[in-house]
Amino acid sequence: MFDTILIANRGEIAARVIRTARRLGIRTVAVHSDADAKALHVALADEAVCIGPAAASESYLRGDTILEVARLTGAQAIHPGYGFLSENAGFAAACADSGITFIGPPIEAIRVMGSKAESKRVMSGADVPLVPGYHGTAQDLDTLAAEAGRIGYPVLVKASAGGGGKGMRVVRDPADFADAVAGARREAKAAFGDDSLLLEKYLTRPRHVEIQVFADTHGNAVYLFERDCSLQRRHQKVIEEAPAPSLPDDIRRRMGEAAVAAARAVNYVGAGTVEFLYEDGRFYFIEMNTRLQVEHPVTEMITGQDLVEWQIRVASGQPLPLMQDQLVRKGHAFEARLYAEDPQRDFLPQTGRLVRLRPPAENAHVRVDTGVREGDSVTVHYDPMIAKLIVWDETRDAALRRLHRALADYQVVGVTTNVAFLTAIAGHAAFKDVEIDTGFIERHRDDLLPPPAPVPGRGLVLAALAVLMRRHGEARAAARTGTDPHSPWLLATGWRLNDDNHHDLRFLDGEALRTVTLHFRAGGTYEVQVEGEGTVTASSVSLDDGTLTVVLGAERVRATVVMQKDDITILPGAGLVWRLRLDDPAAKAAETEGGSGKLTAPMPGTVVRVLVDEGQDVERGAPLMLLEAMKMEHTIKAPAAGRVTAVNFAAGDQVAEGVELLSIEIEEGKKA
Ligand code: ADP
Repeated sequence: MFDTILIANRGEIAARVIRTARRLGIRTVAVHSDADAKALHVALADEAVCIGPAAASESYLRGDTILEVARLTGAQAIHPGYGFLSENAGFAAACADSGITFIGPPIEAIRVMGSKAESKRVMSGADVPLVPGYHGTAQDLDTLAAEAGRIGYPVLVKASAGGGGKGMRVVRDPADFADAVAGARREAKAAFGDDSLLLEKYLTRPRHVEIQVFADTHGNAVYLFERDCSLQRRHQKVIEEAPAPSLPDDIRRRMGEAAVAAARAVNYVGAGTVEFLYEDGRFYFIEMNTRLQVEHPVTEMITGQDLVEWQIRVASGQPLPLMQDQLVRKGHAFEARLYAEDPQRDFLPQTGRLVRLRPPAENAHVRVDTGVREGDSVTVHYDPMIAKLIVWDETRDAALRRLHRALADYQVVGVTTNVAFLTAIAGHAAFKDVEIDTGFIERHRDDLLPPPAPVPGRGLVLAALAVLMRRHGEARAAARTGTDPHSPWLLATGWRLNDDNHHDLRFLDGEALRTVTLHFRAGGTYEVQVEGEGTVTASSVSLDDGTLTVVLGAERVRATVVMQKDDITILPGAGLVWRLRLDDPAAKAAETEGGSGKLTAPMPGTVVRVLVDEGQDVERGAPLMLLEAMKMEHTIKAPAAGRVTAVNFAAGDQVAEGVELLSIEIEEGKKA
């Protein structure tokens, strides 16, 4: 067994491999780019080494640098995770040359399976059923067009070196064939540096069913059942499950045996996945992936095995932990891939800081594999996956309910995600009824991607109460830093009562301006009126660590409300996200003043209280003065750390818009 392994990857898979290695008592070495210096996988590893700038081509894909780190840190083996160098035969060969174990299959197996065309030639020799097609070496258009005619339309043009759905074109009409070939070639050349193509009969309603295989160096090979990955968008997996629902047992067994035959045909060792399409009771080999798959956790959940442990044991020369007749499956598991992407804008990848990231609690039923923590950022450099949510239960229905519930509880604020989209799939009747095939998402698009709707009245009420609570908190904080413990700011209402005892808040909901009026009643109760809608009574309002609780009428309501300056994100549950922007002229004015050192009145008003003295040193964000304007109280804050050089007004003074209230000499280098 190894003492030290290096993980040549990042994100959730690096973190996941490190956890197993640690459990096995193996020391771990992480490698990372400059951009990942503070990443989770770096924090989890026993040792971490920076291998280059953010771009993967200069860091995670630098096999030479990674091998050098392995030598320097005494790692005897390298786990490549998935992606990056995991299916790179050249890197596996370089590892062997350096006397370092590549935790993956033999070089020749990677090479053969790396080509969809070559793997098909080998598979047909091993009697593994193939989709009717052409995978010959002749690549001229005439040959391809003739073969397409023989196969019969629709045909699928595929990059032989392909992966991730790239270089793939469906052709329904022979007239479009030449264009599709040219397009697929360009894409394949750009993505894989290899433009050879193959053709397949395009199946119209297949399911994607894949078999997890494992082989060791002692001649043993087993299959750990199947996964159904039919829920795809643009040929990329979205939700996976194990076992494949309503798959006849004899098919399951035959597929498993065919997959083991496929593995044996290439003298396979380690973890691999043999992918099939399944349609009308028949199955067809499409490709083999010679690595651990993203969706391996669903197999772990139903077999109770740790596949990374299996990989490490097999790579160190041990036999498979279990043989075929010892493997049992139990219950049902789902995995959903959470991405920073915008489903409303054609799933465009999103970047930004994960201001709030609270996964559902993990337990025997719920597992979260992630590479990021709250406060981390999703950047342009890498895959925008935030986490994999995996659930398990005794039956498919029970597991699906858990998936739905766990997605609804997942809190992500700061970047737009696909959580609502995933939640809609998990709650869809046709998914529950196993009416699944690779066209599922496209077919149910209208249900799964409803057009953006205005924020409901409830959302505006919650937003207004959250703003109120924030101001309440700010006012109290300001009062605490002041000298007068009997300040009216400490009253239970936390708010200075105006003559008519109400104020208006304006929110931007997309382009629409929407107004909420809060009427103050005794005992911390408010009548909240959303313009054009009814009025509701709100009582027992509190906002604590982003959780707003309130009794609306007779209903107790809880929601997550995150405010980043004027941007308000409300997660009311069920995977929903409501976004509003507080249209606050005072805040805007204060912001534009920020950093200038001069603090001016954002609007005409009255100075309520001065919280600092001339000559006093203040921290960035320290409250300096309270101003009442437009029936609302505003805290004037220090835009940066510095010294107060002038206080121009006293409590009770009337000020005109734009006059300078105070000035600060900002500490060098501390400008906001
Ligand atoms: P990649 O390596 O790019 O992921 P695959 O060959 O694994 O490509 O196929 C990915 C997905 O594309 C499959 O899961 C399936 O949805 C679809 N697909 C592939 N081949 C066919 C086919 N012959 N007919 C219909 N759909 C196919």
